[in-house]
Amino acid sequence: MIPGAMKKHQDLLAFLRSQKMRVTPPRRLLLQFILDHSNRRLSIREIQEFMGAQLRKADRSSVYRNLETFERLGIIQSLSFPGEGRRYQYVFDRKVRHFYICRSCGKANRGDERLFRRVEAALKDIHGFAKANLSVVFYGACSKCRKNSPTA
Ligand SMILES: [Zn+2]
Repeated sequence: MIPGAMKKHQDLLAFLRSQKMRVTPPRRLLLQFILDHSNRRLSIREIQEFMGAQLRKADRSSVYRNLETFERLGIIQSLSFPGEGRRYQYVFDRKVRHFYICRSCGKANRGDERLFRRVEAALKDIHGFAKANLSVVFYGACSKCRKNSPTA
């Protein structure tokens, strides 16, 4: 396992605990499998084959429930594709699409989680609106360009 994936796995386990979820061996294993294939859309069959080979029979029925739980927590997303059926994909740290782009140098940066939380909170306070898709792009002047040209 590459170190980045290891870190991610630890972060997700910490996140599960923060949501008062018990980190059971089937959940841990399922999470690892999803992370190891985070660039692919997984079918339920692939997931069950892997889990079935690793787990006692009694634990296999937990696969669906755990997938549902992970989806509810925003760790994965499931979508039905024509001709493919339902597919599961890792989305946890990818769903925030905040970018801020400098008009002068064109540099694009991804907004971080703190920004996301504040926008989400403000949207709720001001408009009573929740669970919005917060994909947004801000255009402006980056700190470097402002330093070089203070009027920007
Ligand atoms: Zn710039």
